[in-house]
Amino acid sequence: MLNDKIKKLEEKYRKTYLGYWKDFHQHPELSFNEIRTSSKVAEILGSMGISVKREVGYTGVTGLLEGAEKGPVIGLRADMDALKINERTGCDFVSENRGIMHACGHDAHTAMLLGAAHILSEMRERIAGSVKFIFQPAEENSPSGGAAGMIREGVLENPEVSAVLGLHVWPTLETGQLGIKQGVMSAASDRLKITIKGKSCHAAYPEEGIDAVVIASEVISALQTLISRNVSPLDSAVITIGKLSGGTRYNIVADRVDLDGTVRTFLPETRDMLSRKIEKITKATVESMGGTCEIEYQRGYPPIMNDPGVTSILRKTITDLVGSEGLYEVETPDPGGEDFAYFSEKVPSVFVWLGCKPKGVAVENFPKVHNNRFLPDEKALNIGVKYFCSSTLDLMNDLQK
Ligand SMILES: [Zn+2]
Ligand SMILES: [Zn+2]
Repeated sequence: MLNDKIKKLEEKYRKTYLGYWKDFHQHPELSFNEIRTSSKVAEILGSMGISVKREVGYTGVTGLLEGAEKGPVIGLRADMDALKINERTGCDFVSENRGIMHACGHDAHTAMLLGAAHILSEMRERIAGSVKFIFQPAEENSPSGGAAGMIREGVLENPEVSAVLGLHVWPTLETGQLGIKQGVMSAASDRLKITIKGKSCHAAYPEEGIDAVVIASEVISALQTLISRNVSPLDSAVITIGKLSGGTRYNIVADRVDLDGTVRTFLPETRDMLSRKIEKITKATVESMGGTCEIEYQRGYPPIMNDPGVTSILRKTITDLVGSEGLYEVETPDPGGEDFAYFSEKVPSVFVWLGCKPKGVAVENFPKVHNNRFLPDEKALNIGVKYFCSSTLDLMNDLQK
């Protein structure tokens, strides 16, 4: 019954929220700079009679929709920021801000949540509980990010939020699929910076110096061995040194090399173990070759932990929405970081993947997120909007029991 109502209202508002999507896509803004986006969001929420708070965690916006009766408070989260990428999608609502692009689909997340707000506010009379709409800045800004700031400023209080739900457009899943998993859903994403210092000398007399380039190559290999020999084959982890710089000239032994990389893990114990061993092995390797080093291990986003109870309720929601063939059981969590994790640390939360690859297109032919050609299938958005609405009502209903 409620699902029929949601379906009808989704059709009624489809043009409206697709319009928001295209508008946000055309006007992307970088992390903590979501000025226009957050104003639009606040204005749209306000027009529905939802009580709006601005500047929650800098550029964040929240809206509180109170149902006709009292009940649990469900938080729905969307992120709003874009990336420093030059768009090459060739779509007819291409970015007007040169060099900035919604390449992670956060424009779609924001538009879908606004679509859900339209629908749920029209269903207010039938809602026993409240919905807190959380529009978050700076998801891409690891390690600080926008979620932590909103939580610090009380987004989960007044009224107290019982659960938070979120989603991400997912280019490896087809439109019509929703991916869910209980437990770990994304990796912890940490930053690793290592400065190696040696002693420079003429390239022809290396015995007079300490070669920081050679030391750096030993360190990089040692770090890879750390993964293969210390992380169980049943667990997994990644250390990538994405940037390496050092030296001054081809015929001078380098006295300094800087390594900059990222460490991804799924289990807290693996994360602690790696951060300890990275330090130990790097120091030992560098010192055994006569150099010195500085190591900076910066903790970024923790892993998202999907709550088992809420996950099982939402499995049913998803099946009702897209059928059992649309329910995708995620086996391996995503090695990418996602700061929705901070919500999942505080209250029972579930993050799902919304398939957005058009039907029939091969995975390898569909551009992934952070690619300058990434654009989610428009048809995926209506599933996301309906998912936001029915997951909220299902969960509210269950928490009431
Ligand atoms: Zn991203
Ligand atoms: Zn993203």
